[in-house]
Amino acid sequence: MSFKVNKKGFYGDFGGAFIPEMLYPNIEELKQNYLKIIKDKVFQKEYHALLKEYAGRPTPLYYAKNLSELYHTNIYLKREDLLHTGAHKMNNTIGQILVAKRLGKKRIIAETGAGQHGVATATVCALMGMQCVVYMGETDIQRQAPNVARMKMLGSEVISVNSGSKTLKDATNEAIRDWISNPEDTYYIIGSVVGPHPYPDMVARLQSVISKEIKTQLMQKRMASSPDYVIACVGGGSNAAGAFYHFLENEKVKLIAVEAAGKGNDSGHSAATSVLGKIGIIHGSMTLLMQSEDGQITEPYSISAGLDYPGIGPLHAHLKATKRAEFVSVTDDEAMQWGLKLARMEGIIPAIESAHAFAVLDRQKFKPTDVVVINLSGRGDKDLNTYIHYFNL
Ligand SMILES: *Cc1c(COP(=O)(O)O)cnc(C)c1O
Repeated sequence: MSFKVNKKGFYGDFGGAFIPEMLYPNIEELKQNYLKIIKDKVFQKEYHALLKEYAGRPTPLYYAKNLSELYHTNIYLKREDLLHTGAHKMNNTIGQILVAKRLGKKRIIAETGAGQHGVATATVCALMGMQCVVYMGETDIQRQAPNVARMKMLGSEVISVNSGSKTLKDATNEAIRDWISNPEDTYYIIGSVVGPHPYPDMVARLQSVISKEIKTQLMQKRMASSPDYVIACVGGGSNAAGAFYHFLENEKVKLIAVEAAGKGNDSGHSAATSVLGKIGIIHGSMTLLMQSEDGQITEPYSISAGLDYPGIGPLHAHLKATKRAEFVSVTDDEAMQWGLKLARMEGIIPAIESAHAFAVLDRQKFKPTDVVVINLSGRGDKDLNTYIHYFNL
């Protein structure tokens, strides 16, 4: 079975490029050029030099001794939380800004929900001296004030979006509108494995450095490059796509994708798209999305702003349909408890997004010989306020 995108941009039944005609030239230009650009030797050299010297790769693969003892197995944490700006998002934005430069673009736009992708985009724009405009819902601007300040300090313009629910999907719509109006000089950096083809494939390739390193690091530590399990949280699905990528064709490696169940999948306040979603089109891609009977996108909910996207990337929809990955959903409460547990047991405060992935340890029985890799997608500094309120710290 193949988990690579086909020529038309599909993973099985999912993907494609369902875009307004006005966007066609931009998407076509990217489609014709992205593989040539990212496979080019000079690009690869520049990309990997920046990942290493600027962003801090390779990130450690840390043997979590205390957790391993408690769960009687071998648990490794892939430390994306140690990457510059605090999450895996940098792997993608560094790559895409180099693509934008090679396409001769001068102006960068992006959408952001929690602000992490906005910060990662503003960072690489500062580095490359490019103009940067970030679209963000008014509700998110109020919820994520520190990240708004970071983007402004980095020299980006943050545009407040007041339409719809004033959150991520509305910011995305606004960014697409901007791109339609400025097709010549502007490049749109999408923050996850979502959107029209070729974005999901391009972002997965840029994030695949995560699983490439996991293989090398496991070889050094255990003389075997494949783990038994890889576990990652899924919002749009980019950190999971990166952590799974080089294991997709190796069926011995079990892949577990963890979605946010919010207050519970039956509560009306969830973001578990693989459970609640049906096939439809969102942001240019045919995929699973949460929608009402008449096809209106329903508002997702999670305590972690990075997981409350109403869709999942088409690769993940395909992994779900083919059962190549197991999908698990984890509530706010479980994730918050795991945030505290990881802090107390290993001295690591995780992003609440990442904390969701750890709950699999309570659901699944692992053998003493198993090697379990959890992708720790980001650090928890941005979530301190939420932790403070939740635990009365
Ligand atoms: C943005 C974010 C996520 C969710 O995005 P994916 O594309 O699903 O990876 C998860 N964890 C952290 C720390 C994030 O910043």
